[in-house]
Amino acid sequence: MKKKIAIIGAGIAGLTLANLLKKNSDFEFMLYEKKENLSLEEGYGIQLSTNSISILNKIDFQRVNQDHIYHPKGFDFYNIENKKICNLDLDEFNTDKNKYTTLQRSTLIEFLKDEIYSQHLRFGKKIKEVSELKNKVLLKFDDNTNDLVDIVVVADGIFSNARSFFEKKKNEPKFKKAIAVRTILKSEFEFNIDKDKISLIMGKNCHLVVYPINKNKDLNIVCIIRNNKYEPENIKSLIEKKVLNQNSKLKKFFNKDIKSWPLYSTPRILPSSNSKVFYIGDAFYSFLPTLAQGAGQSIESAYELFNLLKDDSSNINNTYFLQRSKRAKIVRNRSNLNFFVFHLSNNFMQLTRNFFMNFLLKKKFFIDNYLGKVYKN
Ligand SMILES: Cc1cc2nc3c(=O)[nH]c(=O)nc-3n(C[C@H](O)[C@H](O)[C@H](O)COP(=O)(O)OP(=O)(O)OC[C@H]3O[C@@H](n4cnc5c(N)ncnc54)[C@H](O)[C@@H]3O)c2cc1C
Repeated sequence: MKKKIAIIGAGIAGLTLANLLKKNSDFEFMLYEKKENLSLEEGYGIQLSTNSISILNKIDFQRVNQDHIYHPKGFDFYNIENKKICNLDLDEFNTDKNKYTTLQRSTLIEFLKDEIYSQHLRFGKKIKEVSELKNKVLLKFDDNTNDLVDIVVVADGIFSNARSFFEKKKNEPKFKKAIAVRTILKSEFEFNIDKDKISLIMGKNCHLVVYPINKNKDLNIVCIIRNNKYEPENIKSLIEKKVLNQNSKLKKFFNKDIKSWPLYSTPRILPSSNSKVFYIGDAFYSFLPTLAQGAGQSIESAYELFNLLKDDSSNINNTYFLQRSKRAKIVRNRSNLNFFVFHLSNNFMQLTRNFFMNFLLKKKFFIDNYLGKVYKN
């Protein structure tokens, strides 16, 4: 008899797994999403490095309208006065088929939902109760429907609610005393950057990342500001005080509609305590955005689990956890280091950092080790 899988949460992780299952296996599966629809409004931009693009191409990502994505040539690093520090070429990681890609989150979700929307996705579903029955898991939902399945894949994001039904140990995300602000810019501005590339601008206790998200070269701007409190009503004055006072030319970046949210990350990497339950994406571990790997790791975790399920490997739970936690630690360490390095406030420390960045980004052994280990998985 076919095994039945319930996936909880239709974000990037859950949708990727659903696509892999649909294309390449004969599992029965259903995706349960708590919201009433998938948000397809102009979301923030995301960067997908080659490790995740190579997986997406297995489910025909090449078919996405090429006008709606962009392949940046590389990174340029600047100080907040717009002085270039160094650059990084992305060509060494790109192949003809798998290229570093930037796009809007909604473009990715639109693509991922296509194949599974009608048959494999149920909206307005929130777990109310779980129990074990005849070696299976019985899921009961808020709307009094239920499903009896062999495997549950929890993909409901950083504040995973489903986790609390299966785990005694808490792993509540911690506020990182930093705030993310984002906007899309379609007009001109005074800051001098190359619009074909990803620009990373480092200031005191803040950094900005600017990159094109489509062939029109509309620019996604994300600014991370260190601050002890998150007060959404005071965001404009926070930007004024902590970013624009370092360079007023950045004002144009924040003229339009801006969105903000507090940054959280998961304190620990914990295994599943139930052999029929798996965690993927941010529900497994949530990274700081400073290596731009959140979505990429969500895609990777779905692929790792898919391969183990497809091959019907023995001791899947243990193998999945070992593989995923090893990978998550590599990404976590680099994301945390970047978080520290991008925000240095002391002038001498900044000059030292700039010197080392300039030196190291020219060294192949460093690039292969620091980024190659992430991008060439
Ligand atoms: C500022 C910022 C910039 C970022 N930039 C990048 C980037 O450039 N590149 C990158 O790779 N990543 C980036 N990320 C991270 C990335 O967006 C996330 O890591 C990724 O979206 C996580 O995917 P997910 O599917 O695990 O979770 P989510 O996208 O959070 O999806 C979870 C889904 O589960 C649903 N859900 C929640 N609770 C329940 C429930 N109880 N029952 C059923 N459904 C439920 C939710 O409605 C949602 O649809 C960034 C993040 C931030 C904050």
